[in-house]
Amino acid sequence: MAKDKILAPEDVFHEAESYLNKEDVGFIKRAYEFAEKAHEGQFRKSGEPYIIHPVQVAGILVDLKLDPETVAGGFLHDVVEDTEYTLEDISAAFNEEVAMLVDGVTKLRKIKYMSKEAQQAETHRKMFIAMAKDIRVILIKLADRLHNMRTLKHLPAEKQRRISNETLEIFAPLAHRLGISAIKWELEDTALRYLNPQQYYRIVHLMKQKREERVHYIDEVMEEVKRQLKDVDIKAELSGRPKHIYSIYRKMMLQKKQFNEIYDLLAVRIIVSSIKDCYAVLGIIHTCWKPMPGRFKDYIAMPKPNLYQSLHTTVIGPKGAPLEVQIRTQEMHEIAEYGIAAHWAYKEGKNASQQSNEERLAWFREILEWQNDATDAEEFMESLKVDLFSDMVYVFTPKGDVVELPRGSVPIDFAYKIHTEVGNHTIGAKINGKIEPLDYQLKNGDIIEMMTSKHSYGPSQDWLKLTQTSQAKNKIKQFFKKQQREENVSKGREMVEQELRAAGFEPKELMTEEQLKTVLEKFSFTTEADMFAAVGYHGITAAQIVTRLTEKIREQQEKDKAIEETIEEVNASGQSMRKKAKGESGVRVEGVDNMLIRLARCCNPVPGDKIVGYITKGRGVSVHRADCPNVQTDHIKERLLEVKWENEQSEKRSYHVDLEISGYDRQGLLNDVLQVINEAKTNIMAVNGRSDRQKIAVIHINILIHNNQHLKKIVDRLKQIQDVYTVERTIQ
Ligand code: MN
Repeated sequence: MAKDKILAPEDVFHEAESYLNKEDVGFIKRAYEFAEKAHEGQFRKSGEPYIIHPVQVAGILVDLKLDPETVAGGFLHDVVEDTEYTLEDISAAFNEEVAMLVDGVTKLRKIKYMSKEAQQAETHRKMFIAMAKDIRVILIKLADRLHNMRTLKHLPAEKQRRISNETLEIFAPLAHRLGISAIKWELEDTALRYLNPQQYYRIVHLMKQKREERVHYIDEVMEEVKRQLKDVDIKAELSGRPKHIYSIYRKMMLQKKQFNEIYDLLAVRIIVSSIKDCYAVLGIIHTCWKPMPGRFKDYIAMPKPNLYQSLHTTVIGPKGAPLEVQIRTQEMHEIAEYGIAAHWAYKEGKNASQQSNEERLAWFREILEWQNDATDAEEFMESLKVDLFSDMVYVFTPKGDVVELPRGSVPIDFAYKIHTEVGNHTIGAKINGKIEPLDYQLKNGDIIEMMTSKHSYGPSQDWLKLTQTSQAKNKIKQFFKKQQREENVSKGREMVEQELRAAGFEPKELMTEEQLKTVLEKFSFTTEADMFAAVGYHGITAAQIVTRLTEKIREQQEKDKAIEETIEEVNASGQSMRKKAKGESGVRVEGVDNMLIRLARCCNPVPGDKIVGYITKGRGVSVHRADCPNVQTDHIKERLLEVKWENEQSEKRSYHVDLEISGYDRQGLLNDVLQVINEAKTNIMAVNGRSDRQKIAVIHINILIHNNQHLKKIVDRLKQIQDVYTVERTIQ
C-alpha cells in the first residue's frame, strides 16, 4: 500500500477501473461527489480540505479490491457524523446497503476505548465485531484508522499516544483476526513510532545498516532456487520477505533477544501457480538444503484460523545460517495479505454485492466448522462467534469498562456482575442517561449506571425470573438464604398483625389481598412475601406498613367523626350552654363547672400549654394560649380569668394545631413532611404549600394533637427533615 502518496480522487477511480465495470465506477464516482459536497468548507487538523481523508480511505478499500458499496461507504463514512446530511439522504442517493455501512461506521465511532486495563482490550475487540453486524463495516473502519494513523503527526502528543495505544490494542489485532496483514503491519509500525519513538528509530537505523549485506545474501539464495526450479520447469515468483519493525521490537521485548538474533534470520517467499507446485518446490528446497527438524508446517492442509495458507520450512542455508522459506499460491498470498477482504474482492462475473447476507453468513459458518479441528482455531472461533451466532452483549460501566453479558440480560445481571452489594442494593438503572425499568434488555454499547440505595429492601423474588446470568441468580438466592427468608416472612407477618391490633384494628379485616396489593405498590415490593420478609429483617417497620394499611379506614373514621361533630354542634346550639360545658374542651375554670368553654381558633392551645380564659359576650369562655397576642392588650385584662387543663396527659381528645414549615423547595419535601407526621400516627386535617422564587417552600398543615409533648415530638422530627429550615406554630 502506497502510504506516502496522497491519492487524488482520479487515482482511486483509475485503480477501481482495474477490477470494476463502468457502471460500478460511476457509482463510486457519485459517492465521491456527494462526499465532496457534504464536506465542503471543512478542514482537517493538518489544514487540508477534509475530503482528502475519505478519498484516502476509499483508496485503501480499492486497494483491497472491495465491492462498490464498501468503496462508496469509504467515501461517505464521515458524512452522517460530521455534516448535515442524514442516513436517509445517503439511502436515497445510493442504496440501503451503503447507508447500512455508513451507519455501522458512525456507530463504531461512539465506542471509545477508555479503559487502561489489558483484559478489557479483548472484550473491546469482540464488541467491535458484535456491533459492526457486517464485517465490511470493520474493513471501512480499519481503512479509516489506517489513514488517521498516517496523519497522526498533526495531533497533540497526548492524543497521538492515546490513539496509538488504541490502535495497538484494538485495531491491529482486529486486522490480524481478519487476516489483513498489509493493514496490520502498518498500523503496528506507526503506533510504535508514536509510543516508543526511541526504539522505533533505533530499529529503523539498524535495519538500514544491515540492508546491503542482507540483500546480497538473499539474492544469492534466490539465484540458486531459480536455477533448481528451471530444471523442473516450475514458474515461481521469489522475494525476500520484508521484516516489520514492530515484530522485531516485540520479539526483542518478549524473547529478550538482540536485534541481530532476530534480524539475521533470513526469509524468502516463493509464490507458485498451484498447490501441486507448492509441494514440488518444498521437495526441491529440502533436497538443496538440510531441513531443520520440527520446523516444517503445512498450513495448506491445515489453514490457520484467520484463513492463512502456506508451507513453512526452515533449512540450513548456503552460509550455514537458518533460512526461512514460505511457499504458497498467488491466491493464498492474497489471502495472507488481505485476509477476509480478499474474499470480498470483486471478481469478474461475480459481484460481491450480489451475494446475499445469508450467503455470506453461510460462508463464515463453513469456515468456522471447517476450523473445528484446527488446534489454534479456538481464539478465532471465539471472536467471530460473537458476530454470527452472537449470544452475548457488550455494555459499558460509566467509567468506560466493558462488561460482557449473555444476550437478554437485564440491568440486574449487570449489577451483580459489578459487585454483589451493587446488586443487592439496586433500586433502578439509568441506561444511556435515561431511567429504564429493571426488565430492560441490554443492548450492545449501552452505558449503564446502577442506582442503589442503602435503604433498599434487597432483591425481589421476581428478579430470579428476570435475570439471565447464573451469577446473578445465585447471588439473589444467597441473599434470600442469608435473610432466612421463610422465617422472616412469617415473623414479618406477625409483626404487622401485632401492630394492627395495637392500633385497635382487626388484622383479618385489613389484610385483604386488595389492600395488601396497594401497600405493595406504594413501597415498590413485588410480592407479599417480599414485603413481610423486609419487615422480618427490619428493612422496613411494621408501623410503616400499618400506616399504609389503615390509611383508608382512618380517613373514613375521620370523616365519620367530622360528621358526628357537626351534628353535635348543631344540636348543641339549640340547647342550653350548660349541657355543652361539661368538660368537652378538657379545660376547667377554677371553681366553676358549668361554664361553656371553647378553645380559641387563633392560637389553638393544646394540653400542656400555658393558658388563660377570656370571658366573651354571651358565648362563654374562650381559652387562649397565655402568649397569644390576642389576649395581651391592656383593656381586656379584666375579662381574663384563670383556667386549667383537666388532664394534661390526656390522649383521649385531639386538638387542632397549625404549623408552618419552611424549607428549601426540593422535590419530595412535602412528601417527607407528610411521612414524618404519618409515622408519628398523627392525623392531618389540612395541608397546603407554596413556594416562592427564592426556592423557599412554605407548608401549612393542620394536625390533631393530644398534648404539647406529642406536639414537641412532631416538631422535633419535622426539624430533622433534610432541607427544613424552620417549624413554627402559627397564630392567626
Ligand atoms: Mn474518518
